[in-house]
Amino acid sequence: MKTVAQLLSALCALCFLLFHSPASAAEPAKKVLYIGIDGTRFDAIEKAATPNLDALMVNGIHSPACLILGERYQKNDTISGPGWSSILTGVWADKHGVHDNSFTGRNYADFPHFFARLKEVRPNAKTASFVTWKPIAEYITSAADVNQNFEEKEKGSVADYDRYDTQATDAAVKHITEANPDALFLYIGQVDVAGHTHGFHPAVPEYVAAIERADKLVGRTLAAVKGRKTFAEEDWLVVVTSDHGGQGKGHGGGHKTPEILNSFLIVSGAAAKRGTFDEQVYLVDAPVTVLAHLGVKPKDEWKLDGRAAGLK
Ligand SMILES: [Zn+2]
Repeated sequence: MKTVAQLLSALCALCFLLFHSPASAAEPAKKVLYIGIDGTRFDAIEKAATPNLDALMVNGIHSPACLILGERYQKNDTISGPGWSSILTGVWADKHGVHDNSFTGRNYADFPHFFARLKEVRPNAKTASFVTWKPIAEYITSAADVNQNFEEKEKGSVADYDRYDTQATDAAVKHITEANPDALFLYIGQVDVAGHTHGFHPAVPEYVAAIERADKLVGRTLAAVKGRKTFAEEDWLVVVTSDHGGQGKGHGGGHKTPEILNSFLIVSGAAAKRGTFDEQVYLVDAPVTVLAHLGVKPKDEWKLDGRAAGLK
């Protein structure tokens, strides 16, 4: 007959196996869903019915006034070329070199997309980008395992961009479901097009409606993330921002216009703080936050302007 001590020792061995097996001891895999919604004013998000963005804010931290120009440098125009360059590289325009939508002067060789920085540190990391503004795919995105543009023709209608955005989202959802990305970027373009066509303002129904459609696309990507077979073993950070606001039917030359200068920033997930940012945040903080969640500590020689914001 076994002694009590022997039984206890057998039980402890079993417990050890159960709780210390490699699968249960593993850290959750850190992953990022990075969503950019072009030309989106936060006061219009507040006006719109946006249950998915609202849920991200409840489960994270946000700023209704994320500045699109830095304290240090503000000579670039307040438009998409410089904006998305800052959002994807973590540096201001004097470094990435993009001052307008011509992309002349671009210096992504020295200041690359954050995918390149991620791969520099973690060569096996998987990255994917789905956009509906061609210059991003053509000029900015590097080190992506998947790099797809869905904009068929420049300056299409709101309906055209709704179709492109839906196709980009379909592709992102498929990729999230079937592949295993560590960092995935989705760009939604129709809100900016609605602003240029009808006006950037919370009182403009077409602008608000475009934000509501964008929110549904955000919801579809979030559902895909939550539907992953391995979701329970993963730690997803969701970051959402925009490249500029707007006033009237435009946003160029908005250096002194708060409605244009202020974007928003949402950092959401288990790793994010809760509430609203006390400190001023900037577009360039978004990619550095993403890198921090993915375990990448910026090197000094990268000369990043942003800093990680909103993580616990
Ligand atoms: Zn625009």
